[in-house]
Amino acid sequence: MQFDSKTNLLILGSGPFGLSLSALASHLGIEHLVVGQPMEFWHKHMPKGMYLRSACDWHLDPLNVHTIEAFALVQGKTNSDVEPLSLQFYQSYAEWFQQQKGIIPLRHKIEKLDHSSTDNGFVATTDKGATILASNVVLAPGFRHFAMVPEELMGLLPAARFSHTCDYVDFGPARGRRYLIIGGRQSAFEWAALLLEAGAGAVHVSHRPFQTPHASSVVEFQFRPNLRTTQKPLKTPQTLVSWSFNFSLRRGLSSAFCVVY
Ligand SMILES: Cc1cc2nc3c(=O)[nH]c(=O)nc-3n(C[C@H](O)[C@H](O)[C@H](O)COP(=O)(O)OP(=O)(O)OC[C@H]3O[C@@H](n4cnc5c(N)ncnc54)[C@H](O)[C@@H]3O)c2cc1C
Repeated sequence: MQFDSKTNLLILGSGPFGLSLSALASHLGIEHLVVGQPMEFWHKHMPKGMYLRSACDWHLDPLNVHTIEAFALVQGKTNSDVEPLSLQFYQSYAEWFQQQKGIIPLRHKIEKLDHSSTDNGFVATTDKGATILASNVVLAPGFRHFAMVPEELMGLLPAARFSHTCDYVDFGPARGRRYLIIGGRQSAFEWAALLLEAGAGAVHVSHRPFQTPHASSVVEFQFRPNLRTTQKPLKTPQTLVSWSFNFSLRRGLSSAFCVVY
């Protein structure tokens, strides 16, 4: 069988993990290809205006050379000048890191990965139909593929009125609008803060009680309006307040989603 390219190691994903691994592979002299849109999740699915919870020590270089500290120094800055790290700063750091390490990801999307018994490796097929034969593969595609809005909820809401936090990253239209955020982890509270900063009329967050550990593989969520009311009081139509629904999420799914009403 003919292949468009061959490699010892295919790294699928050009986010922090893929880039970091590529740097290490180069250092160890391992011939490899890294594929994916560089830092795509950070460019397309992170909220504008966000600051990272990680500090300068969360850098990409396994060799501790091209660190965030080193990047800041190039600009005549220290760690304390750049912390908390803004999304924009971290994106620039990742770009600089790629330049320093000479990492040039192939901007392909892999649609299929097969084990090839004849060639004793893996065959990756891109969305353009090109094939890559790889002896080894590391998967680093991130968690974008796991974003989920429960079907029970989708059936209740008009399509244009809700989104997953993963896709709601531009708060331009937030001014004066009211939001219900379902979920109670980092994304939920981060979005609540950012929406308020962007002038949202009200933000309510609904989530399960915090003391409940991830005890079972199915977690029941209950809709509980008004857990947190900020700024303007909720002039909610009766229809919303009287809603009551249960839906389940499979374990391990983080993030939240917003309902605009
Ligand atoms: C709002 C928010 C804030 C966060 N803040 C922090 C923080 O401060 N600190 C922290 O440590 N973590 C933070 N995280 C988590 C962080 O986003 C992830 O830990 C990190 O992005 C994981 O890196 P990754 O390389 O595994 O995946 P990603 O960054 O998701 O990268 C995935 C890569 O895979 C590529 N890819 C995916 N599918 C394919 C395919 N089929 N073919 C080819 N390429 C593909 C993509 O193009 C991309 O290049 C935050 C997450 C969110 C949502």
